[in-house]
Amino acid sequence: MSSGTEAHDGHRGPRPAVVVGGGISGLLSARELARSGHEVTLLEATATLGGCVAPVRAPLPDGTELVLDAGAESFAVRTPAVHGLIEELGLSDAVVSPNPVGSWMYLPDPAGGGGRAVRSPRVGILGIPGDLDAPEVAEALGADALERARRDLALPVGRWEQALRDGGPVTVGAVVRDRMGEGVLQVLVAPVVAGVHSADPDTLDLRTVAPGLLEALVAEGSLARAVAARRAAAPPGALVASLRGGMNTLTAALVQALRDAGVSIRTGVRATGLDRAADGWTVSAHTQDGTDETLSAGRVVLATDGPAAWDLLAPVAGGALTTADRPAEGAGVALVTLVADAAGLDAAPRGTGLLVSPQVPADVVGAKAMTHVTAKWDWIRTEPHRHVLRLSYGRVTDAPDVSTPGYGTDDRELLARAVTDAATLTGVDLAGAVVHSFVVRWRSALPAATTAHRAAVRSVRDWLDGQDGLDAVGAWLAGTGLAAVVGDVRRRIGVGET
Ligand SMILES: Cc1cc2nc3c(=O)[nH]c(=O)nc-3n(C[C@H](O)[C@H](O)[C@H](O)COP(=O)(O)OP(=O)(O)OC[C@H]3O[C@@H](n4cnc5c(N)ncnc54)[C@H](O)[C@@H]3O)c2cc1C
Repeated sequence: MSSGTEAHDGHRGPRPAVVVGGGISGLLSARELARSGHEVTLLEATATLGGCVAPVRAPLPDGTELVLDAGAESFAVRTPAVHGLIEELGLSDAVVSPNPVGSWMYLPDPAGGGGRAVRSPRVGILGIPGDLDAPEVAEALGADALERARRDLALPVGRWEQALRDGGPVTVGAVVRDRMGEGVLQVLVAPVVAGVHSADPDTLDLRTVAPGLLEALVAEGSLARAVAARRAAAPPGALVASLRGGMNTLTAALVQALRDAGVSIRTGVRATGLDRAADGWTVSAHTQDGTDETLSAGRVVLATDGPAAWDLLAPVAGGALTTADRPAEGAGVALVTLVADAAGLDAAPRGTGLLVSPQVPADVVGAKAMTHVTAKWDWIRTEPHRHVLRLSYGRVTDAPDVSTPGYGTDDRELLARAVTDAATLTGVDLAGAVVHSFVVRWRSALPAATTAHRAAVRSVRDWLDGQDGLDAVGAWLAGTGLAAVVGDVRRRIGVGET
């Protein structure tokens, strides 16, 4: 992973660097390399920069335009990583907090085949409640499941102490089921895990998605107390923040900083191969206009999604990276945005939005989550009664046969489903209210945070640590989310890290 100042062309000085991938990981890597004096070229396969943090433009019938986030719309404030970057880029004044109206969940109705909306527990991590006396926890769980959950307060933690010592895989499902029972797992945790991580709790690695929670469980002697302690230790206020204008303004600011630093930014150029050379590496690339070229570099950073990085790394790894460890594509997600003129939504009937339990039948609600964007972020509200809703499709439990709406469903069907789902979820009739709608699809953008993936990441990183001038960053290695990827790039590529 190393190397800062070495000889090239007979001079001592930083060697030319190539960064592959123009998402946040790649842009930030390019910035760090430029800051340490490298001459940097960044290659991005598509025509746009930012990856999951790009803008999308919504032209409205009145001739105005809304610019929204196409993917990530906030960042976690549990670490100072993203705040630090925002400050360096001069964007601190634009930081905004979500409205404190809370969020909701949509759960199967025990009385019949439908669903019911309940408030999410206020103190929680991944849906795991930190306060078992909270009325919303009782309302969501019912008496029996609550009684089982309360056993967590007294059960011994020896098993998890042992797991912590062993360092072996620990899934979210195993810990929650053991401490609080199946009810908490299915009702409160599964919707969050499915909505946020597109994963099944029984394969999701606890250490990756909730760092420090296992240690806190052992220290506190209870999962609920561990959650409460971790939340109390976090900065006060909301768990996430954003930027006025959207997270895509972070991409714009980073791109500007790269231009100012003289980085060569090339969009529409896909890296197709990586090779060793006498004085470093070569990157083969294919441009959108059909040209093939080869770039030489002393330092190469791969900042793509996992499968793309793997395909570049494996041929130079001499068998050190096995095919069995190639990261999975991850779940595809389709996001439907509805812009609606609907006074019924003014009171934010479901707060900032809802996560839908995977147990709600798809014919009742097909979406896995809905964000009431204009209720969450003040800056997006432009007109009285004008609302933006964003619904996501592609539940981890859905069959891949397109019988439920997901990544592969066509736009027309998705848009129709979104209008009926939004009405069911909010309780507001949206017939005739939608003035604009569009679909954005993401593939390979949400890496699977499974225990097997965590082991594969460790072996990739161990191997990379022995490679002079080569590194890989990005969500597939660091974990999903801006806080994870920004912190990881700083540690691996940051100035002073040679
Ligand atoms: C719908 C959605 C919503 C999200 N919401 C949030 C949120 O609210 N908060 C949060 O913190 N996180 C969120 N995330 C996660 C977060 O956005 C990502 O974890 C993070 O942005 C990943 O950045 P990255 O640079 O690692 O990867 P990416 O953004 O995926 O960038 C990788 C880039 O590499 C390029 N590339 C791939 N192969 C090649 C190649 N061979 N040659 C050249 N270029 C290549 C791709 O085109 C892409 O631009 C969300 C993600 C999605 C998909």
